[in-house]
Amino acid sequence: MAYSSIRIGSIFGIPIRLHITFLIALPLFIWIFGVAFFPDSELMWLWGFLLTLGLFAGVTLHELAHSYVAKKNGVPIESIVLLPIGGVSQMENIPDDPNIEMRMALVGPLTSILVGVVFLLCALPLRLFFYSPEVELFFVIMGSINIFLGLFNLLPAFPMDGGRVLRTWLAKRYRYDIATKHAVSVGHAIAVVIFILGAFTLDIMLMLVAMFIYIGGSEEERQTNVYYAIRDLKVKDAMNTKVDCIEEEKRISDAIEELLRTKHIMYPVVNRDGYYLGVVTLDHISRVQKEERDALLVKDVMVYVEPLSAEMSAKDAIQKLSKSGFNRLPVVENGKVIGIVTLGDIIRTAQILNA
Ligand code: ZN
Repeated sequence: MAYSSIRIGSIFGIPIRLHITFLIALPLFIWIFGVAFFPDSELMWLWGFLLTLGLFAGVTLHELAHSYVAKKNGVPIESIVLLPIGGVSQMENIPDDPNIEMRMALVGPLTSILVGVVFLLCALPLRLFFYSPEVELFFVIMGSINIFLGLFNLLPAFPMDGGRVLRTWLAKRYRYDIATKHAVSVGHAIAVVIFILGAFTLDIMLMLVAMFIYIGGSEEERQTNVYYAIRDLKVKDAMNTKVDCIEEEKRISDAIEELLRTKHIMYPVVNRDGYYLGVVTLDHISRVQKEERDALLVKDVMVYVEPLSAEMSAKDAIQKLSKSGFNRLPVVENGKVIGIVTLGDIIRTAQILNA
């Protein structure tokens, strides 16, 4: 998601990013707001623009409230991504304490409702002091939008905040993944009801919202299952201990023979005493010209990559794997290679343990 969004600033040290689709939706929003609420105004476009800006500010405040409570409780927030349909606070992981998750989830909608009420309360004195029906209407709409944003997010269905609130409440009785499953079922039921409602009233927007809720729930369940299964896993549980190393002094031509025999795509490289030096891949070897293969040695083409350790958590290993640019990494203990692990190994092990 970070790739398709633009950083527009940061508050409380949290980067705020605008999703590309937001920019595309911007003119559409300005038009819809203008035509829907200020069709007779000479300033239709200006009001449309101000309302769009207001909606954007409201969503930002909502997300900032989530992030602020998260940060205060030591839950790191990677960034806030603003989408046309709302915002997403990207957490690096799920907080372990359900009470913290509950507070984090609730504070967003409550902030929206509070902001909405303040706008509505401002509408009245504005009317008394300088009468302008358009200014008053602007405040009433801003108030209503923010209250709607708050209430809609309280729906007990993922990906809304209410889904999270429901899960944390269930998590006090059930294991986290079971709680997620139940919360997703409730969300799916709500999505089905909204869809039927939309179908009967021929409201395409309602039907789309229903689908959005349904898919969001399934996605949350999938992510939680993987996260939950991986949480307690260590590298040593997932690694493959049958690992063929290659000596640094070996000629490339000999390495190719070794490759034909064992058919791996990466070999840890060791010195004569068996100590880890780096890795050599099929790609490194195949890039050596045919006439040089007898002259060059493995150590001439190998690269050093930081290996994993057996006691490292699978979660950290996944991060290291994705940062390394390799699809597998050696596991090293006391300088010696004891295994090799891929992302697939980790996920398969998690699935087996969770079966
Ligand atoms: Zn929220």
